[in-house]
Amino acid sequence: MDSMAMEMTPEWAASVWPVCNNLTVHGPNSNQKPASSIRMAAMTGRDSWYDMEKYSRTVTWVCLALIGVAVLPGFMGWARRRWPKRALATLQSMPFYFRTAAFLRSITYQRCSLPLGRGKRIDIPDLGKTLVIASFSIGMIVWCFAVTPYYRCTREWGSPPLAIRAGMLANGMITFVFAFGTKVNLVTALTNIAHERLQVYHQWLARLVLFFSVVHTIPFIVQPLRDGGSHNLYLWWYHNGPEMWNGTVSLALLAWIVASSTNVFRSWSYEFFVVQHLVSVILFIGFYFAHTGNELNSWLWLWAAIGLWGLATLIRWARSAMASGYFVSTRASVEVHSSSDKRDAMVRIAIRTPLRWSPGQHVFVRFHTMSPWQAHPFTVVTLPQPSDHQDSVVVFLARVREGLTRKLYERVVQEDREQGDDDAIEKGGSSFKSSDALPLLENSEHEGHDDENLPTKAKLLPASIDGPYGCSASMASYHSLVIVAGGSGMTFALPILFDLAWRGRTGNVCTRDVVLICSVRTPATLSWIRHQLEAVLTSLASYGITVRADVHVTRSASKELPILQGCDAHLGRPQVTARVDEAIRAPATSFMQESRAVVVCGPQEMSHEVQDSVASVQSDLLRGRLSNVVEVALVRESFGW
Ligand SMILES: Cc1cc2nc3c(=O)[nH]c(=O)nc-3n(C[C@H](O)[C@H](O)[C@H](O)COP(=O)(O)OP(=O)(O)OC[C@H]3O[C@@H](n4cnc5c(N)ncnc54)[C@H](O)[C@@H]3O)c2cc1C
Repeated sequence: MDSMAMEMTPEWAASVWPVCNNLTVHGPNSNQKPASSIRMAAMTGRDSWYDMEKYSRTVTWVCLALIGVAVLPGFMGWARRRWPKRALATLQSMPFYFRTAAFLRSITYQRCSLPLGRGKRIDIPDLGKTLVIASFSIGMIVWCFAVTPYYRCTREWGSPPLAIRAGMLANGMITFVFAFGTKVNLVTALTNIAHERLQVYHQWLARLVLFFSVVHTIPFIVQPLRDGGSHNLYLWWYHNGPEMWNGTVSLALLAWIVASSTNVFRSWSYEFFVVQHLVSVILFIGFYFAHTGNELNSWLWLWAAIGLWGLATLIRWARSAMASGYFVSTRASVEVHSSSDKRDAMVRIAIRTPLRWSPGQHVFVRFHTMSPWQAHPFTVVTLPQPSDHQDSVVVFLARVREGLTRKLYERVVQEDREQGDDDAIEKGGSSFKSSDALPLLENSEHEGHDDENLPTKAKLLPASIDGPYGCSASMASYHSLVIVAGGSGMTFALPILFDLAWRGRTGNVCTRDVVLICSVRTPATLSWIRHQLEAVLTSLASYGITVRADVHVTRSASKELPILQGCDAHLGRPQVTARVDEAIRAPATSFMQESRAVVVCGPQEMSHEVQDSVASVQSDLLRGRLSNVVEVALVRESFGW
């Protein structure tokens, strides 16, 4: 054996340092500290510090593999939306596709909750997401703790391997925390999973990074204490001062970021959450850079994270500038219903823009003169103009809550009272036309049937938009649809109907029947969408798509029911579970293999009822108990993350 090879073996280290822990003087400057060549040899084959970059690398490959698994279903979903008929025919010709889909849906649609005691439960992500998150987390934790040793002989022999292992695992995950968190998202581009649905992975991965950061910290405290007591700990801390301080501040910031991202903080003040999140993340990155000092090439993962974030931000700003007249000329018409009850009020926001979008997508709106730091997401109710060369009108219907939406509402109402404002649109006038909402209606019998009679007050305000985000919710590749919408959830349902009507005109649609169950608190909410709803129902009927539409008014002061052409109106809540079960379990009306889907957007309780129904039908599909029905898919929008 040559001398170099001999030098690198633990045997050689043991031969020159027979008892590794016979130091009498501890501390970073101990004159008994072994030379680095001896330390290096001693750790060879014992999870050597020099090989620990592999932990970050492996995390990267595992995350990429998980993303890779989602690419195929994402592609299928995309193809179904783009070429509904051809894609569905292809899937029908694939043996086992629908059974596999039903099996996966029976897992992924299951809701999960954990008991909190006293009969209370806390919701956790759906079973599919929980399984992915749990298996990844458990796998990483088991790996971290299964490898030995946890500590070197004494602190003088090197950093505790458990600490470095955990640190490098966390380091590898940081890139993906950013990758899952940005709005313009590479993972979304690859998998067709909307950015808001990736938030759950963003949040849980950040929690896992925090866990491993704590595991990284503890051995650095335990080992010096064990070797030489608190004085030794002090010596090591003092010796590695900046590194320790930077690490401690990073850990504190990370703990704060994770804690302040919980629902409690976000619902308390979303804007405070956004601003502090941004500041805390920037500070965290700065301190983390300083802490790691590119040891074991750790900065590679940090630069990747910053690159993804920077690119996403650049694209967002560029897109937003183009969609919003370069932030100078775009103004939004903000309208409120003059007769609406303050508790149930909505504002309608309309902006002319060259932007293109798909049904169900949302856009962030910023009002520069009111809340320049806030960008709020709203689903676009309208469809874009068919021609790329024409500007379109994005229209949002926003329920008035406590923050920006209330400010907008009050501004319009108040200035209407004061009158004389140059930007105010005349009372009773509206900037929004039915033809803006649904370009295909231009030649239909509803042409010119605008909302001129709506008693609205309106105002023009400088605004910019950023988007579109989210995936297309085009449902044209399903033979029958059940759409359940509660309150402002109608903003998600309407564009789906518009899209069906638009595709119906060209025959590019598989859908033959639609059940629409819509629930609103008062008839005032309906007045915003009445004409669009009636128009689209007429269009759908003319293209041979049968629609059964039921509108439920849950809190009307008078017992009078709204009259909507093509809809049955009811007082009181809909029996959501019974109606959905009835629709999805009904025998197919033809001998064809029928593909069904349920769309829900509304309050949590409603959403849960629908999800439970669709989850429970999957086992019957697997057993072939539903005659000629091959699939029941679920699309759920919760207006949150
Ligand atoms: C993808 C998506 C689409 C949406 N589409 C619609 C829609 O079409 N119509 C509609 O009425 N509402 C929609 N919402 C909800 C809407 O964004 C919030 O109700 C609105 O931002 C509340 O503004 P506020 O300042 O008045 O709310 P606040 O009273 O301050 O807060 C009310 C709730 O809104 C959440 N919220 C506040 N600001 C934001 C923000 N910038 N981003 C995300 N959540 C926020 C808070 O966490 C809180 O739970 C959508 C939300 C999402 C995530």
